[in-house]
Amino acid sequence: MFQLIKKSKKSEARRGKLQLASGEVQTPCFMPIATRGSVKGLTSADLKEIGAEIILANTYHLFQRPGDEVIKKFGGLHQFMNWPRPILTDSGGYQVFSLAQLRKIDLAGVEFNSEIDGRRIFLSPERALEIQKNLNSDIAMVLDYCVGYPSQKVEVQRAVEITSLWAQRSRKHAGKINFQNQIFGIIQGGIFKDLRTQSLADLIKLDFDGYAIGGLAVGEPERKMKEIIKWLTPQMPINKPRYLMGVGYPEQIFEAVKNGVDMFDCVIPTRHARHGELFVRTNKKIVTAKKLNYQIIPIGKKQYQEKRNCLDRFCSCETCCHYSVAYLHHLYKNNELLYHRLATIHNLKFYLDLMKEIRLGIENNLL
Ligand SMILES: [Zn+2]
Repeated sequence: MFQLIKKSKKSEARRGKLQLASGEVQTPCFMPIATRGSVKGLTSADLKEIGAEIILANTYHLFQRPGDEVIKKFGGLHQFMNWPRPILTDSGGYQVFSLAQLRKIDLAGVEFNSEIDGRRIFLSPERALEIQKNLNSDIAMVLDYCVGYPSQKVEVQRAVEITSLWAQRSRKHAGKINFQNQIFGIIQGGIFKDLRTQSLADLIKLDFDGYAIGGLAVGEPERKMKEIIKWLTPQMPINKPRYLMGVGYPEQIFEAVKNGVDMFDCVIPTRHARHGELFVRTNKKIVTAKKLNYQIIPIGKKQYQEKRNCLDRFCSCETCCHYSVAYLHHLYKNNELLYHRLATIHNLKFYLDLMKEIRLGIENNLL
């Protein structure tokens, strides 16, 4: 399922390959976010064109609308959204705790009010897995209990214990419903090293197909995040993919790759695009041994009003091949739908090219 192709001689970075039900994914990889079954503004053809191999969809949102039973009738999310390549779905845990009006959490699961119509919904680890089976996810994430930062240690400890118990039940239920695709466990424990180690040890006993570092990038200082990644990765199984959830900026991804992380997802490229922040190379190669060569351009600034050049002369995306900076600036100022599409294509292409260069860098022992 996960094949380790090469380990860098310079760092802990790994070059690998994921064999999933809907296809192959080269790692380290970045997963564009398709929260409600669409990467905002892009078609599947756009995603293929920029080289996306896997995307991330959101169990919580799709479960609320249109409902997993509707998607099941179409044969799964791949057919429903016309995306034949791999899909990872998160379990909905994070959204339940961050978005929903929570009513109750206990060992059985979580009860919350829907943000759409206020109706009362109960989500258990078993139900979360059934939903992801109906979506036909290539990789399903187990339901976890994610606490924010800062939190009292005793609260984080409780979250770890509940997460471990839910992981056990998910494992058991997967057999019962004959879940064929891959399932990843999620490590919690906040910024507490002992709790992180305990959480990981509990999950390893259950032999998941991969392990995700959850509960980071939730407001803790950057230094703490790095510390936890450095602490955890040497303890994680070598032969299983390692996924850092919700991270991050190119430097954070670069750093995590050097610690041996294989998979990433983040809203940054797509959300920044919509808000007028575009990632632009300052050199032909984004990745060099010591640093990353790029800057973030605020396209709405007046200085771009008459710029005739393309956004990024080293980029081969549709936006950079056919449109000027001035035109992008104009579209942005007028909040044109086309702006969102062109900006998203470019920022995602930048991230996917970054990962391609990182993979090449590992192969050549550059990082
Ligand atoms: Zn471009």
